[in-house]
Amino acid sequence: MAATHEARAPGAAVPAPDFDAIIIGAGMSGMYQLHRLRQQGLRVRVFEAGTGVGGTWYWNRYPGARFDSESYSYGYSFSQELLEEWDWSEHFAGQPETLRYLNHVADKFDLRRDIQFRSLVTAAIWVEDTRSWTITLQDGSQFRARFLITAIGPLSAPTLPRIEGVDSFKGQSFHTARWPHEPVDFTGKRVAVIGTGATGVQTIQTIAGSVGHLTVFQRTPNWCAPLHNGKIDAETQSRIKAGYPEMFRRCQETFACFIHTPDPRGTFEVSDDEREAFFEKLYAERGFGIWQGNFRDILIDRKANALISDFVARKIRQRVKDPQIAEKLIPGNHGFGTRRLPLETFYYEVYNRDNVELVDITETPIERITPEGIKTSDREFEFDIIIYATGFDAITGSFDKIDLRGANGARLKDRWKSGPETFLGVMVDGFPNMLMLMGPHTALGNIPRSIEYNVDWVTGLLSYARETGLTRVEATPSGVASWTDHVKALGVGMLSNEVNSWMTGINSNVEGKQTRIVARYSGSAPAYRARCDEVTAQRYQELALA
Ligand code: NAP
Repeated sequence: MAATHEARAPGAAVPAPDFDAIIIGAGMSGMYQLHRLRQQGLRVRVFEAGTGVGGTWYWNRYPGARFDSESYSYGYSFSQELLEEWDWSEHFAGQPETLRYLNHVADKFDLRRDIQFRSLVTAAIWVEDTRSWTITLQDGSQFRARFLITAIGPLSAPTLPRIEGVDSFKGQSFHTARWPHEPVDFTGKRVAVIGTGATGVQTIQTIAGSVGHLTVFQRTPNWCAPLHNGKIDAETQSRIKAGYPEMFRRCQETFACFIHTPDPRGTFEVSDDEREAFFEKLYAERGFGIWQGNFRDILIDRKANALISDFVARKIRQRVKDPQIAEKLIPGNHGFGTRRLPLETFYYEVYNRDNVELVDITETPIERITPEGIKTSDREFEFDIIIYATGFDAITGSFDKIDLRGANGARLKDRWKSGPETFLGVMVDGFPNMLMLMGPHTALGNIPRSIEYNVDWVTGLLSYARETGLTRVEATPSGVASWTDHVKALGVGMLSNEVNSWMTGINSNVEGKQTRIVARYSGSAPAYRARCDEVTAQRYQELALA
């Protein structure tokens, strides 16, 4: 373990560390951050736990994993050459294609030479005397850097259920985010899926046709809407490429950087017929339009939300033949869009198949995993494969897994015990020279768009520090308090903040994560960027600089 206080003669120069910056994680944000800092001439090392680049798209190899934002809006925008040479084959690319894309980016920008794979970071300790971070890897090796940049993702710490017997199962079992690199053969197999979030939905609809029998264990149904994926033909491809500048400009203007943006009309400002026709149109269109491009008040006005919920419930009843199963698939404890909306492709029709069974575990709870399968309160099931689509210790979970200590040995995990506190979602007072990409309290939305902004902002700060000879940059306690209050205030009135989900920091499988927190910035992305730009324009005077 590195000493936190090392003797340095008063006035002596701060010694140079091994690297100007260490980045944890080689996903989309870590890769772009590496590229940007290298362009500035900085010495950078990325530590990545996996064997390849791609982060989310490296780990989540489960069947059916794919974008549910339009592919062309979800890649990098920083390189015109990259935009021109890469053809997305589908409107919503599958995980293998996205991983190929990210490997192509790594090759094109020669990123791998500064990425150390199979390198899980277990600790990061701030050393005041050397103004540097000491990073420890699982194998015990240590490295020092002036700046620590976390690129560890909001959804990257998978969680298994806390159910007795999870280790006792004798068949194959997988968490979706730790899916094997080799194909899994489902032919004729009895398969269980636990979890019906965006991941469970994609998995279920993809494997239902190839398994022998599928049993879905559902605790909370989610509102889902059709993805309407399709191949991109040559003519559309040319149109997409010609339209890139306009599309990315639009993404900069919309609320959450999606190509969809709320309709300026209120739900009750139109006639019943107009409203129904608008909902029908959105339900028939590709992607997140029904969620992000709906009437402006559906996510804040309970009555408006009840109308869209009722519309989607009717769709579920039309699509699922057995009325009792349809009712089980209709959420009763939250409104449409108040949790992250899973987009689906014939998901509801899966439940019309003879080889698929839905088990509502609020009625018959899982009591334990047995060597043969799953025991609920009324039945014992036998399985060959159990798939855990049980989600993540989101937003703060990947930070909690690292022994992260700032000034005076203070632990970030302790600091955030009652919820994250940040400045712009990027910095925390007491943790000098630590910058977070896609950390808590940043604008998530269309993640690649947010990543590019976040990375460019961090790059600007590090360049400024270098130009002006700063070796220590830190958020102030008042800056953190006021940003945290601002984020909390923005969350007031959002129906999503009144619902249990990963977005409100709830995870039944993690001790201490049963109380809702405001973990996400829920204002508009343009407002977020304007605030960050203001800090830059004032030459970072809101930070403590030394
Ligand atoms: P999730 O939304 O948190 O869903 C986890 C599911 O597992 C829920 O249905 C949950 O039930 C259930 N569950 C958890 N613990 C359980 C237990 N002990 N017993 C029974 N059921 C349990 O996780 P996710 O589906 O992996 O998705 C997380 C996020 O990843 C998404 O919201 C999305 O942002 C992202 N994602 C994106 C894509 C994409 O871009 N295409 C695809 C997949 C995921 P409860 O609801 O009752 O807790």
